[in-house]
Amino acid sequence: MIIGIDLGTTNSLVAIYNDGLTEIVPNRFDENLTPSVISILKDDDIVVGKTARERLIVAPKDTFEAFKRNMGTKKIYDTNKVTFTPTELSAIILKTITEDARKKLNTEIDKVVISVPAYFTDTQRKATLEAAQIAGLDTLGIVNEPTAAALAYHLHETDRERIIAIVDLGGGTFDVSILDIYDSVIEVKAVAGDNYLGGEDFDYAIAEFICEKYGLKFDSLDLKDKNKLKYIAEQLKIGFGTLEKQSFDVQLTNIALTIEMNIQEFEEACLPIIARLKQPVKRALVDAEIDPMDIEEVVLVGGSTKMPIVKHQIARLFGRVPLSYLNPDEVVAKGAAVYAALREKNIKLTDMVMTDVCPYTLGTETMIKTSDGEYHKRLDPIIERNMTVPISRSHQYVAIEEEQKELRIKIYQGEDPIVEENVFLGEIVHEIRSGSLIDSMTSVRFTYDRNGILEVITQNLRNKEEKREIMLNNNSLSKEDIAKCLTKIEDLKIHPYENEENLYIISKTEKIYDLVKEDEKEKVYDMLMLFREALLSDSLFNVNKAKEKLLKMLEEYEERF
Ligand code: AMP
Repeated sequence: MIIGIDLGTTNSLVAIYNDGLTEIVPNRFDENLTPSVISILKDDDIVVGKTARERLIVAPKDTFEAFKRNMGTKKIYDTNKVTFTPTELSAIILKTITEDARKKLNTEIDKVVISVPAYFTDTQRKATLEAAQIAGLDTLGIVNEPTAAALAYHLHETDRERIIAIVDLGGGTFDVSILDIYDSVIEVKAVAGDNYLGGEDFDYAIAEFICEKYGLKFDSLDLKDKNKLKYIAEQLKIGFGTLEKQSFDVQLTNIALTIEMNIQEFEEACLPIIARLKQPVKRALVDAEIDPMDIEEVVLVGGSTKMPIVKHQIARLFGRVPLSYLNPDEVVAKGAAVYAALREKNIKLTDMVMTDVCPYTLGTETMIKTSDGEYHKRLDPIIERNMTVPISRSHQYVAIEEEQKELRIKIYQGEDPIVEENVFLGEIVHEIRSGSLIDSMTSVRFTYDRNGILEVITQNLRNKEEKREIMLNNNSLSKEDIAKCLTKIEDLKIHPYENEENLYIISKTEKIYDLVKEDEKEKVYDMLMLFREALLSDSLFNVNKAKEKLLKMLEEYEERF
């Protein structure tokens, strides 16, 4: 059996192609999406998917997500006991979802096709292949995500040239690809995007709106409260797909809130984000030298395109109603399955990328003064992901205080505004002998070429002192490295699947305990304890009774969280 895999930033999926039809293969919970999240439990067992996702609020330090953003980099994900590379974490996801598919289909998985973003470099594609190898999979091919989306809608079945647009708005990124389809070729002519634009930005805007409405300051909240509010914001966002008005109760560290929001308030909060969809669409069209009138179809991909306000804005920008009869979460996996079937039957289809873009944001650590008067570290992007390469850009910096004796330029690669979450590439230091602000002014020029080489030239604008560094971040594995990773992944203790349902219920209850108001916590705690005790009692009757009660309570909360 050959399967198509969408190894996504937020969720991963498996699809098969059968008799002209594509189908998603559900995971062990009978769900189509497996969250690309991995969590390490106290006893070092590993859980993958929705149980891990439930632990993001209660055990954020031991839970990893969105590691696809760092594929092919030297980023290390660290707990106190174990470390993982993005490739290893991806291998764990691949291993889990293919194992689930094998069981569900009751047949061996012979080969896989994996989708990757069109802007992935050779290094990132290689890292994806290595992840598959570490997961023990035989990869038949890699397909570009926008190409897969076109295949899922059978847009390749044409005897004339057609130009289409793929609009992908996921959890954290926005990508617009222009595809030219002709003579069994699908050519990605342009990709443009915004790496700080996705579902999370809507969540953040809604959370900020709530704070303003209830007299709180989002930036001053602790991380847990921020996560709680963002979680509730996401639930509200999804709810407004069908509802006009919603209400949520939540316990924050110092305050219990009853949040009420109507659809007008929701749309008002989302307006600035919706406006940001325009620029990348325009840039993709300009880069591809295409008039919007020449676009024959627009395909929607990614969970956030389910939002009615997003759909309307895309329709407005392209002047046509986008295709969305396939579930936008499933389009890429289904297309990967179509690609697998074409390859298997030796039907010729060339999947080409004609555009060279920088796959990561490259920037420097800077200090920003926020409204509370304090300095906060921020990543200042100099070259942004998806910019066409080769490219050269410069920013100027100045010391933040008089008497500062040096200007330390720390260079990072990655998409997270929180500096430490990105990959550190190196630093250049300029001495400021006089300690005066004006003498500290320094220009920093980044030049990024097609081979993924970053040249950084810094120049003090007063004394003209110049420094130059070449930064490479090529992280290919040797055969020995792969063999080591294989053993490491094989030796991992995956939490026994037969116990996973119980762990999922416990993790979900712990999350709800964290979220509910003070006066409700005791009830949730008691139920959880009852269930834990029942599990220790070895009595199936007790376990089932406690589980039934707990599930009933969770169901009630489900409507609220
Ligand atoms: P993806 O990266 O494509 O899996 O998309 C994940 C993003 O889609 C997350 O930010 C989700 O909150 C968002 N999302 C998923 N389903 C919906 C929905 N029904 N309405 C609005 N946003 C959604």
